Parts: sequence; structure tokens; C-alpha cells
Amino acid sequence: MIAVVGSLNLDLVTPVPKHPVPGETVLGGDIAQHPGGKGANQAVAAARLGGQVSFVGRVGDDDAADIMLGAARSEGVETTHIVRTPGVPTGRALISVDPAGENAIVVSPGANSRLSAADCEAAADLLRRARVTVLQQEVPDEANHAAARLAGGTVVYNPAPAVTGAVPPPRVDVLVPNRTELAALTGTSVPATLDDVAAAARKLTGMGAVIVTLGADGVLLLEGTAQLHIPAFTVRPVDTTAAGDSFCGALAVALAEGSTLEQAARWACAAAAISTTRPGAQPSLARRDEVDAFLAR
Ligand code: ADP
Repeated sequence: MIAVVGSLNLDLVTPVPKHPVPGETVLGGDIAQHPGGKGANQAVAAARLGGQVSFVGRVGDDDAADIMLGAARSEGVETTHIVRTPGVPTGRALISVDPAGENAIVVSPGANSRLSAADCEAAADLLRRARVTVLQQEVPDEANHAAARLAGGTVVYNPAPAVTGAVPPPRVDVLVPNRTELAALTGTSVPATLDDVAAAARKLTGMGAVIVTLGADGVLLLEGTAQLHIPAFTVRPVDTTAAGDSFCGALAVALAEGSTLEQAARWACAAAAISTTRPGAQPSLARRDEVDAFLAR
């Protein structure tokens, strides 16, 4: 079983002719709403790939909470430890997209910001039993720290989004940053070359194994003193939203099934590559049979 501790956001997406500058109002197109949030995306990614997934998180007591809980359940994610929070809105992301496809995003964490160490302690039994516990950075550090302390299996920490001043959990087995998040963790500028990425990532190997995701350049895996570059699969990407979430969910499934880190990272690259060939976040996430067919090409 995989435990995902993290955020649930209702994404509200509006096309705009141009992004407003401060003080300006622009008229957008029809709004669309989709389930999102890094925690929810990673949980759905893992469930769609055949993982048995339980979620630890918080929603508000509004309509968005029902949408988020319904979406998680319809993907087979177990929601007993998603707590409703009276008087607080469910997390939402306000996303405007201009004609060039450029996003401007405001996240209102709402109930996600209320997830506490006590919430994780209430899910202690689940966290102890989980083969893999997956954490991100859209809930308070105290919740992540408690979850990592309670986790009986492998702790995968995706330090996303990059938050200045965030403190990584006391125990991490596999750290999965992208280039920007790696820079935030090491206090360096965003590393450009593979050598720069390796030098920065090496500073973090004291925490655990490190897998730096590099978009179309694949991943760099560092485990102890060993270092391996795994190239990305060649695809025609149309929307790379949630590629990182797809990777983390898939990595968790493979690790829970007993794959080595290298096998798991390769498999996760395949799932993530598929997700870039389709628009959206959760709708783009791959099913297991698709990954198998993709790898058998
Ligand atoms: P994030 O979305 O967190 O910034 P990345 O952009 O690094 O994460 O993408 C995560 C993974 O998704 C990459 O390591 C790679 O395996 C896969 N991926 C992303 N973009 C592409 C692409 N253009 N082609 C193939 N695979 C990709």
C-alpha cells in the first residue's frame, strides 16, 4: 500500500487574451474546473498505475470538498484520512492561461494549510503499514515531518513547489526535486549542465538517494557514490503539466512492488513521458496497460 500525504486543490482554469497587470481587469473565456493539487495528482497517478493508495489530507466543508473527495474515490484512492475542516475553504488554484499557453497561477491553500502533525498521528497505523509514503511541499512542514517519522516504509519526498525556508523531513529515503527545486534546496542558482546538476545533487545525498527530474533530459539518479543518467523517452509533448507528479506516483508504485530505484526511475520516466503527450493534469496521467504497451513498442 502507498500513502500519499499532501494537498488537494480544485483548479479553476480561465483562458485570457493576456494576463492582467496589477490594477487591471481582463475578460477571460469560460472557466473550467479540474481536480488538482500535487498530493491528489500523485495519488491518482499511482492509483491509475495499479497502486493501492490511501490519502492523508484536508479539505474544507464546501462544494469543492465534495468534488475533490468524489474525484479521488472514483480513481480508487482510499479517503478515510482526508479530514473535512469546518469553516475553511478547500484549496484552490486560480489559473489563467494566455494564447501562448503561458500560465499565471495563484494557489489558495485553504484546508491544506491546516494539515497537522496530529492528523498524521491519527493516520499512524496507515503510515506504519505503507510500503511507500509520498510527500510534497504543499502542506505544512510539521505534517511532512510527522509523516516521515511515522512511516514504516520508504519515504519519497518531492520538494515541490520550491518554497524558500521549507525544512525537509528528518528522514527521506528518496528525494525527487526538479532543477528549480534542487536549486532552492542547495541555495545555488538553477544548475544548467548535467555536471552542475550532479554537483548540486551530491550535496544532498546525505539525506538519501536523489533523483533529479530534468524534463526532456530525463533524470539523474544518485545513490551513495553511484551516479546514473537516464534519458527521457522520445515523445511529442503537448502539455508537460503534472509530468513531475506523474513521475512521483509511478516511482511510488514501482518501489512498492519491489523494483530497484533504477528500474523504478526508468518505469516512471515512461509513465511521465506518456502524460506529456496529453493536455491537463489528472486527465493526462497514464494507465498501467498504456505504460506496458509503450515500453513494448
Ligand atoms: P516537473 O513537472 O516537476 O518540473 P519535469 O519537467 O522534470 O518535472 O518532468 C518529470 C519527468 O517527466 C522527467 O524526468 C521526464 O522523465 C518526463 N518528461 C518531462 N518532459 C518530458 C518531455 N518533453 N519528453 C519526455 N519526457 C518528459
